[in-house]
Amino acid sequence: MNTFKNLTQLLDFFKDEETCKAYYEQKRWGGNVACPHCGSLKVYRTNRGFKCGEKLCYKKFTVTTQTIFENTKIGLRTWFAAMYLISTSKKGVSSLQLAEQLGITQKTAWFVLHRIREMLKDNGNEQLEGEVEVDETYVGGKNKNRHKNKKVENSQGRSAKDKTPVVGLIQRDGKVRLFVVPNTESETLHTIMGSNVAENSTVITDAYRAYNGLDSRYTHVTVKHEEGGYVIKIGDQKFHTNNIENFWSIFKRGIIGIYHFVSAKHLQRYCSEFGYRYNERELTGVKKFDIALTKVSSTRITYNTLIGK
Ligand SMILES: [Zn+2]
Repeated sequence: MNTFKNLTQLLDFFKDEETCKAYYEQKRWGGNVACPHCGSLKVYRTNRGFKCGEKLCYKKFTVTTQTIFENTKIGLRTWFAAMYLISTSKKGVSSLQLAEQLGITQKTAWFVLHRIREMLKDNGNEQLEGEVEVDETYVGGKNKNRHKNKKVENSQGRSAKDKTPVVGLIQRDGKVRLFVVPNTESETLHTIMGSNVAENSTVITDAYRAYNGLDSRYTHVTVKHEEGGYVIKIGDQKFHTNNIENFWSIFKRGIIGIYHFVSAKHLQRYCSEFGYRYNERELTGVKKFDIALTKVSSTRITYNTLIGK
């Protein structure tokens, strides 16, 4: 049983590459090794890994084939440590911190972190329901820090021209879902909600005009911050948007404090990272690590895709 409670204990537990491979092999296949190319269970162990026994396939593979670990020179021990740190640090971990802690270059750390973020995205397609708080925030381009002639006019609040908007939906006592969007117009917001929030749910927003018209599909409760209200009482029930606002505050402290600057191109992946941590917040570090490990064979992005080649 693995019971590591911090990075040092994790590195003690995964003492070498063989231990990491055996652990992941068990997690991936549970004793029934399946060919990742054709799915066959007719598999032979070789000196270097496995060979498929299916006549039409007959391909070689290893435990890292078709995972985020494939074709990288980074050892599993380093990957595991990075996955653990990103899963358990509240606000995230920068490539500089990761490079220092694991003794790798910052460039390698940057690549490792982005591959992990990509795999952490929520692939669930079940709709949020019950009470759902919806709100948007803006990331990037801090106007007051800019040179005077580069300042963007009217960039306060919702008309922010140089910032990237993110829409967040949180189900009460449930999951958060985040979307980087080109704008916060009514059509954009309504489309996202249409595909992510079940009909007849109660949707709680602030008084932003783009949320008008939601009551054709939902029970729409508006919390009017301008009038000093943060909780609205209807009958015996209280409604608020505190959960999404608390989430934004962690998100922003992470983005500004840890990552300093996040380009629009990579922002969705940071959203995946923060969303994952929020959604698995009740779990222990080991459980979070194991959940992350179940995701490593779903998606894989190459370094060239990341840098836009
Ligand atoms: Zn095969």
